[in-house]
Amino acid sequence: MRLDGIAASPGIAIGPVLRIEPEVLSVRETEVAPAEQETELESFRLALEDSRGELASIRDSIAVELGEQEAAIYDAHLMLLDDPEMLAAVERGVRAGRNAAWVFQGVMASVAARFEKVDDEYLRERRADILDCERRVLRHLLGADRRVLLQLDEPSVVVAHDLGPSEVAQLPRGRVLAFVLEVGGRTSHGAIVARGRGIPAVVSVKGALQAMPAGSRAAVDGFRGVVEPDPDAARTAHYESRRERLRAQSSALEAMRSEPAVTLDGRRIDLGANLELPGDAPLALESGADGIGLFRTEFFYLNRFEKPTEDEQYRTYRGVIERMAGRPVIFRTMDLGGDKVASYLGVTHETNPFLGLRGIRLALASPDMFRTQIRALYRAAAHAPGRVRMMFPMVSSVDELLRSLELCAEVRADLARDDVAHDPGVEVGIMIETPSAVWMADALARHAAFFSIGSNDLVQYTLAMDRDNERLAGLYEPLDPSVLRSIEHTVRAAHAAGRWVGVCGEMAGDPHTAVLLLGLGVDELSMSCYDLPRVKAAVRAVRLADARAIAEQAVRCDSAGPVRALVRERVDALLPGYLALEHNGGANGAPAPERA
Ligand code: PEP
Ligand code: MG
Repeated sequence: MRLDGIAASPGIAIGPVLRIEPEVLSVRETEVAPAEQETELESFRLALEDSRGELASIRDSIAVELGEQEAAIYDAHLMLLDDPEMLAAVERGVRAGRNAAWVFQGVMASVAARFEKVDDEYLRERRADILDCERRVLRHLLGADRRVLLQLDEPSVVVAHDLGPSEVAQLPRGRVLAFVLEVGGRTSHGAIVARGRGIPAVVSVKGALQAMPAGSRAAVDGFRGVVEPDPDAARTAHYESRRERLRAQSSALEAMRSEPAVTLDGRRIDLGANLELPGDAPLALESGADGIGLFRTEFFYLNRFEKPTEDEQYRTYRGVIERMAGRPVIFRTMDLGGDKVASYLGVTHETNPFLGLRGIRLALASPDMFRTQIRALYRAAAHAPGRVRMMFPMVSSVDELLRSLELCAEVRADLARDDVAHDPGVEVGIMIETPSAVWMADALARHAAFFSIGSNDLVQYTLAMDRDNERLAGLYEPLDPSVLRSIEHTVRAAHAAGRWVGVCGEMAGDPHTAVLLLGLGVDELSMSCYDLPRVKAAVRAVRLADARAIAEQAVRCDSAGPVRALVRERVDALLPGYLALEHNGGANGAPAPERA
């Protein structure tokens, strides 16, 4: 049997199942006589106080382990406990003669219900935070034991309906082989904490508890989002060998960690890491990256109820820059809109959100918010002058670039006038993600310091294929010659103007495709920390001259099929055995490669 879910954190695990039964905190409605109401309220206040103490200590340990941004989850919990409306409602209920637990549960249910209806995945996920918080207070009020994982004395695959973020955070390290949850999405906080800790996780697995009784075993594939309950001997051997191959691969790759990405004939390529969470900067260093080629700043805007302030952003950007210890960092300014909407942005319904107010368009439509981010970036850059760059997403015209550069100039003038420390020399580049940007690359290159090709979107807009539409997954084709020609054209225009070009979409993270990009003349590649060591191994295994010859042939192909065949025959022959398509899929059109 095989259960499908959402791949929330990569890795392979196999082992005994530890079920976490749904927690039942039974709250009955009882009457509280007037003489006892003060005591009832006092116990409620005490429960809140104890909950605050617990949350504060979890918060601090997460801040140390994963970073301030992740710790902010618990600030949100703390705020919920201090919400004056909630406090007043509970007091009113108790004064009306009802027990505090009953009233509190009702109030929290109505807060949670508000989130259920919102049209924003990130906010919907916050329901889990509210429930987590509610359970914590109720446990104190009812004198119930915390749902602890005492049985976790042997490394296990933890299977639960749901785990609150604080429960995930408190699991003993090293004992959890993987998480399988019946609910949740990639952006649920439990998933984020799992990724931060490097634990494989598959979420949204319907019927997981029923399929995995106590005493059973399970195999978990966090790359593909698959769980196999009770694998037989052959399947067990299959998972064990994948796990072993990952280990072997990672020791081969580990040996190259501090080596540069240089081809056999001496062409040096910069390898950057793509990051979404500030706390992941150490992962970039561990992966052997030369810097951060794409820092997606959306996380900041989406995971909350109101806009982030300048100081908050400044502190976070500064933290990332400092953790990268002098290596360059490229911050991509807010790429909101499309599927990334937050209620406070006031984005109204759009029929075609991916062709709507997104990326730089939305930023320019909210100049105050955009200016705040630019200010924070210039200020943070003062802590590593010359090492910080910024780039704008989804640019589709020279005008958009000029208007954004004007905002940057205004911000620099303000900072200089107010004598605020900043680095006026921050280089400003753009992402090439639209066909119009490709064709205007020569004009854009006159104003942008560098280009970074966002191939995920470039493929989507070049082929007019929704990148997230499962029914188009077989057609959404990065190796289509139209995409390769767009990249070739962009590189030529940029180099003619003396600008460098990177690629920061998923294409850059596939070792075979990376060789093709090298051949097309790309100067930098940026990818997830998991993919980086494998791409480095590929770069170090080829000659630029060979990569060029293959790329020249690829752009002359009529369709993606012959390009794939070319990659299969010519690129595969150049790469070390452990990167072979046979084992890994990847450019072949097979499932995404496993990561070491
Ligand atoms: C891209 O489009 O390739 C890219 C890197 O940006 P995002 O995936 O965040 O849209
Ligand atoms: Mg993009």
